[in-house]
Amino acid sequence: MNKLLSIVVPCYNEEEVIGETMKRLNAFCAELTDLDVELIFIDDGSRDRTRALLRSFADEDARIRVVGFARNFGHQTAVTAGIDAARGDAVVLIDADLQDPPEVVHQMIAKWREGYDVVYGVRTERPGESAFKLATARAFYRVLNKLSDVPIPLDTGDFRLMSRHVVDSLVAMPERDRFVRGMVSWVGFKQTALPYRRAERFAGESKYPLRKMLKFATDGILSFSTKPLQMSIGLGMSAASLALAGILYALVLRIFTNQWVEGWTALMIAVLFIGGVQLICVGILGEYIGRIYNEVKHRPLYVVQEYIGYASHEGPARSRSPVVDRK
Ligand code: UDP
Ligand code: MG
Repeated sequence: MNKLLSIVVPCYNEEEVIGETMKRLNAFCAELTDLDVELIFIDDGSRDRTRALLRSFADEDARIRVVGFARNFGHQTAVTAGIDAARGDAVVLIDADLQDPPEVVHQMIAKWREGYDVVYGVRTERPGESAFKLATARAFYRVLNKLSDVPIPLDTGDFRLMSRHVVDSLVAMPERDRFVRGMVSWVGFKQTALPYRRAERFAGESKYPLRKMLKFATDGILSFSTKPLQMSIGLGMSAASLALAGILYALVLRIFTNQWVEGWTALMIAVLFIGGVQLICVGILGEYIGRIYNEVKHRPLYVVQEYIGYASHEGPARSRSPVVDRK
C-alpha cells in the first residue's frame, strides 16, 4: 500500500489565487507516482468566495477536504487545525498564495525517505517583499534565537514536511498561542534544512497586516522564552541603583547645602524614568499573565463550522473543535 501524504493549505480571503493554487497542486500530485495524497484546505473564516470555490473543488475530487472555520482564527491556528485533521504518514504545510513552490516538495519527500522527520524550507531569496518586512523578519529571527531556549532556524517559514512522529507530537501540545515553527523545533527528531527560492505572492495582498505580524512575533518570543521577565528584573535593578544614587545625591544636598530647591530637573527625570521602567515591567508581566489567563479558560482552540469532503465512514484524524459537522 502506498504511503499517504497530507498537504495542508491555510486560506484566508484567497479567492484570487486559490484556483491557480489548485492547478499547481494538481500538477504536483500527478507527478507523485508512489504516494497517495490528501489535500486539506483550511478556510480561516474568509469573507470572499474562497469557501465556495473550495467546496466546488472538494465536490470534484475525493482527495480534497476542507475545514471551514466559523470565523477568522488566524494563520497559526488554521495550520494547527490542518495538522490535527491530517491522516498522512507525512504532512506538508504550504501557503495558499504560491510563495512556496509545490515543486520543492519533491525534494522534501526525498529527504523524508532518507530518514529525516522534519524538512524545513529556508528562504534564500524573497522577491516582492517590502524592505521593511525583510528587515523586521531578519531582526525578529535573530532576537528570537537570542532569547529562546530551543534554537529556531533562521529565515524559515511554515513551509515544511513533517513525519507522523512529529505531527503526533504537535497534536499533543495543547497550548493556545501557537508559534508552529518554534513548536516543531522544540519537538526534536531528525531535522534538516532545504534552501529554496521564495516566489512572489501570485495575486491578492498579504493577509498579514502589521497588527497580525506583531502578535505573531510576540507569540514567538513569549511562548519560547521567559527571558523578558528576567530582563525586566535586570532593568528594574539598574533603575533602582540609579535611583539610589539620585536619592543619596538629593540627601547630601538637603543636609549639607542650602540649594535643595534646585534639582527639580533631576527629580523629574528620576520620577519619569522609574515610572517608565515600572510600566514596562508591569507590561511584560501583564503579557505573560494574559497568556496564563488565556490558557486557563480552556476554550477550544478553534471552532469548525463544517468539514467538507469527508466520506461518511471517515472524518478528520482529530479535531479540537466542539462541533464536527461532516458534509
Ligand atoms: N492566512 C490565514 N489566516 C490569516 C492570515 C493568513 O489562513 O488570518 C493564510 C493565507 O491565506 C496564506 C498564509 O496564511 O495562505 C500566509 O499568509 P500571507 O501570504 O498573507 O502572509 P505573507 O506571505 O505575506 O507573510
Ligand atoms: Mg504569502
